[in-house]
Amino acid sequence: MARYIGESCRVCRREGEKLFLKGSRCYTDKCALTRRAYAPGQHGQKRKKQSDYGMQLREKQKAKAFYGVLESQFRKYFEEASRSKEVTGLKLLQILESRLDNVVYRLGLATSRAQARQLVRHGHFEVNGVKVNIPSYLTKVNDVIKVRESSQNDPIFKQVAEENGRPVPSWLEADVDNKSGKIVAVPAREEIDLPVKEHLIVELYSK
Ligand code: SF4
Repeated sequence: MARYIGESCRVCRREGEKLFLKGSRCYTDKCALTRRAYAPGQHGQKRKKQSDYGMQLREKQKAKAFYGVLESQFRKYFEEASRSKEVTGLKLLQILESRLDNVVYRLGLATSRAQARQLVRHGHFEVNGVKVNIPSYLTKVNDVIKVRESSQNDPIFKQVAEENGRPVPSWLEADVDNKSGKIVAVPAREEIDLPVKEHLIVELYSK
């Protein structure tokens, strides 16, 4: 299935959760979910009883939308998580968090994951001194992510700095002046603000 490129706010409204897909607008009262807290469409305001499968599916769709990941890649992450010795659901979230586009977003170097993806693709970032333009690149502890020298004065980063007011999570160390950051730990579950019950995703894929 291709990446959803329609109106981002419809995704949040369908899932009934703020998924922060639109950057700084998500933190204002212009947020569509704040103004219309019901699903889009003609029957959006009707309550629907969900089956177990329906609930599991919704949790997976939410996680995919949150990180902007396609089904095939999401499935690969799940398989990698289930091969690890750690708790599968948590490991899955930790893999998703380690994506370069997510780390760029978490460090406050982009206003949304979608923008982070675009900035990475356009070659604005390096990891440990080497240019990386793959948003799905998986980072690890001690990696240093930095806006490349040639992009340091790009007006987009000035704009991002003006718009961003999000705190940087404790598993990352941000160096605002140098537009860079270091991964200092693997995030614990309570440090990942994804509003999903990951055990339902594990149940879905384990059928
Ligand atoms: Fe739209 Fe952001 Fe609100 Fe979601 S959280 S409904 S993307 S403004």
